[in-house]
Amino acid sequence: MLNALKCITPLITDKRFSSSSAERPIPGNSVLRHLTSKIKSTGPISVAEYMREVLTNPVTGYYVQNDMLGPDGDFITSPEISQIFGELLGIWCLSEWMGAGKPSHLQLVEFGPGRGSLISDVLRVFSQLSGALGGATVSVHLVEVSPKLSQIQAQCLSGDQSRVSASEDEPVYRQGTTAAGLPISWYRNLDDVPRGFSVYLAHEFFDALPIHKFQRTEKGWREVMVDVDPEEPDKLRFVIVPAPTLASTQLIQSDEKRQHVEVCPEGGVIVQRLANRIAGDGGAALIADYGHDGTKTDTFRGFKGHKLHDVLASPGSADLTADVDFSYLRKMAGAMVACMGPVSQRSFLKNMGIDTRLQVLLRNCADPSTRAQLIHGYDMLTNPAKMGERFQFFTMLNHIRLTGPEPKQPELGAKMAPVPRKAPAPLPVAGFSELGLS
Ligand code: SAH
Repeated sequence: MLNALKCITPLITDKRFSSSSAERPIPGNSVLRHLTSKIKSTGPISVAEYMREVLTNPVTGYYVQNDMLGPDGDFITSPEISQIFGELLGIWCLSEWMGAGKPSHLQLVEFGPGRGSLISDVLRVFSQLSGALGGATVSVHLVEVSPKLSQIQAQCLSGDQSRVSASEDEPVYRQGTTAAGLPISWYRNLDDVPRGFSVYLAHEFFDALPIHKFQRTEKGWREVMVDVDPEEPDKLRFVIVPAPTLASTQLIQSDEKRQHVEVCPEGGVIVQRLANRIAGDGGAALIADYGHDGTKTDTFRGFKGHKLHDVLASPGSADLTADVDFSYLRKMAGAMVACMGPVSQRSFLKNMGIDTRLQVLLRNCADPSTRAQLIHGYDMLTNPAKMGERFQFFTMLNHIRLTGPEPKQPELGAKMAPVPRKAPAPLPVAGFSELGLS
């Protein structure tokens, strides 16, 4: 009953893809052996533990081992489809920096940068519009669990200029300089990224974080776990555990109406930490992923070679993913920050001016195949039947961004009542059609 698509797309030929994953190892068997022996000795494991082991185990993890993006990989993402996507997100970052009063230093932070295409397109916009930055300095910070992908990102962003830390325990495990001379650093965790005014980007990151699954039963909520199939000992199966677990008693909202729920506590913790940073240091986060606003139920699925793949079959050889529940992220962000969205990718990109950008690129391009590729990319990103509606954009902002700074208090001892200074109206938040505090 696994439903829905991650994003099954027709395979396109794009010069962005250069590497082949044809020879990549398929560690399915060793991962399966590890999981079955663990389950046999300590009992069924949560879906979250299963996902964590399969995706980010430091030795065998799917993300740790593979370059899974592109036609030769398992799935394709918007920044890999069209340069316009990253360019518009670059404009968004600049616009949020301006809306915050142009602080003197801007940290660009990206979670799960994949092949580095999105941040590379963002940085090209920063270079082209460097005049707008005035004297402000910019640094780049990437939160990436995969050594293999960090190497590909480093190649894309800084050529051979980056260096790996001497010790594996260093919080900054790789450092370098971008082509434009900006300092760039790699971390495994948000906590290691320096504090300060930051714009955070997360595209197709939250869907990769481990989820717990719960089923409503006559006896109340019960957790769905992963067990060894007693009939076929080298196969895994889902079971509903008979007694409540810590997760089933802690993670379900009291007003939950659905029959089946997926909860991503790790995503909730990251959002809380982001909210805390944005409230304390200023800045904004833009989270884009396929997801829903608290309505969907069973969305856990696997992808291999651009096709749906049984999530429990040959673990480690396919991507595992679940739709992002934005209503849960909003709850976890709490009142510390203002939240907007989710809005559909189509609305967001249209509000950001994707139509105008496409026209400009087409006007300057005579090559028929590049023109066809630009139009194809535009259609993939915005068509409601493709990525336009399934992908959603959500933002977290410092409250001051929407309300404007507090009016100045009259100085003590001032003889005359000061004329109240009218603060300029805050800039609208680009991409989100309506301004509103949640
Ligand atoms: N944002 C990119 C790639 C999406 S794939 C794009 O849109 O093309 C997911 C990315 O998140 C990969 O780079 C993967 O290695 C990274 N990732 C997955 N789980 C992670 C974790 N727990 N911590 C840090 N990075 C993670």
